[in-house]
Amino acid sequence: MNASHKDQYRLEVQKWLAENIDLIEEKEPFTTLHWMPSRERENQHHLDCQLRQKKLYDAGYAGVTVPAEYGGRGGEPWMQGVFREEAAGYQVHTGFFNSIIAMTLPALLKHGTEEQKKTHIPSLISGGISWCQLFSEPGAGSDLAGLATRAELDGEEFIIHGQKVWNSAAMYADMGILLVRTNPDAHKHEGITFLLFDMKQSGVEVRPLIQAHGAGHFAEVFLDGAKCHISNVLGEIDKGWGPARAVMSNESAMIGGASGDNPQQLIELAHELGNVDEPVIRQKLAVVYTRNKLLKLMSEKISTAARKGKTPPIHPSIVKLYVANNRRLEGDLAQSLLGAAGVAVTANASKWAMELLHARYPISIGGGTDEVHRNNLGEQALGLPRDIRIDRGIPWKDIPKG
Ligand SMILES: Cc1cc2nc3c(=O)[nH]c(=O)nc-3n(C[C@H](O)[C@H](O)[C@H](O)COP(=O)(O)OP(=O)(O)OC[C@H]3O[C@@H](n4cnc5c(N)ncnc54)[C@H](O)[C@@H]3O)c2cc1C
Repeated sequence: MNASHKDQYRLEVQKWLAENIDLIEEKEPFTTLHWMPSRERENQHHLDCQLRQKKLYDAGYAGVTVPAEYGGRGGEPWMQGVFREEAAGYQVHTGFFNSIIAMTLPALLKHGTEEQKKTHIPSLISGGISWCQLFSEPGAGSDLAGLATRAELDGEEFIIHGQKVWNSAAMYADMGILLVRTNPDAHKHEGITFLLFDMKQSGVEVRPLIQAHGAGHFAEVFLDGAKCHISNVLGEIDKGWGPARAVMSNESAMIGGASGDNPQQLIELAHELGNVDEPVIRQKLAVVYTRNKLLKLMSEKISTAARKGKTPPIHPSIVKLYVANNRRLEGDLAQSLLGAAGVAVTANASKWAMELLHARYPISIGGGTDEVHRNNLGEQALGLPRDIRIDRGIPWKDIPKG
């Protein structure tokens, strides 16, 4: 790639963004809600994100590095980097579409058959089909490999019974990435199968879960005799833990990358409230600002490696923990800036501060809890003794279950 080629591409991106996408600044300040306060807003948000994903795809800015035979642009990793840089101030985020693509696409590219890639990747990256992640269960969250949803082969079809929970955007999903237990006699990590699962069939019941603050981000999913053909196994039967780990690792990196523009809004809020000159407030603003910049640098290093198909130079658990801590600091600062108005007033800034306060909890749980990521770092990066596992070497069916 020569410099003029890159410059020309950058100009093309700048022109397209300016003509097609709104600037973030054009929105009213303090309205960037992640959690929609009602089902109606959640539904509208999903539709808006789907349209935006389609718009990006049609213009060649979604699936930039995906090979053309799978519906992508077949471009170079640097093109995605340029788009990311240029799109920084624009409303290009596509909500859960962004998340599920970041989690699912690398696993499909690495483990999918030719037919699976040709069938699923174009509609995944264009947003034409909505996907969800069906991993967690009431008895298997942190200990995901303990999952109990059963799938038994009947001819060429799996018949599935069980329950999944905390499944983001499952109420909109046409397809799901589903983990099932196919061999209860094997050790727990060895009898799991990864399925590309059709959600729109009898035997699938999706019940939305409404959170305390009114948002309906998740659902629980009941599977009662649902079917899945063996051609939809990603990887091999009983060997789904490998692709599942790839999804989880990409999920952590993706959550770390979704850092948002909270420090800028906090600085604006301090200006608006006139306390930007207070030394303690200035110090706290400097901390969240600096941490946010560092997080962006770490995320960029990880996504550059991912774009080039290399192992990330930073363990994804580091960025996941870092972003969770950022959210705690940002939530605390927003509330200390506003005082009582942070919880009792319905002005935009107060609603936004409440949102920041709420956002500190899910970010420490979704994609693996802080404690689990600390275990990962201890074991995988620092070489510390492994967590105690009383189920090692025992067939899954013989592990005591609560
Ligand atoms: C915003 C959000 C989105 C989500 N989206 C999805 C989704 O789309 N699909 C999906 O399948 N799931 C999703 N989840 C579920 C998420 O993956 C689980 O909540 C998470 O893995 C934790 O599992 P759990 O809730 O069962 O908690 P548990 O595993 O029961 O953990 C309870 C507590 O025990 C601690 N703990 C557990 N094991 C250990 C250990 N070995 N060492 C130290 N402490 C430990 C945990 O840190 C936690 O504090 C989402 C969750 C959130 C919050």
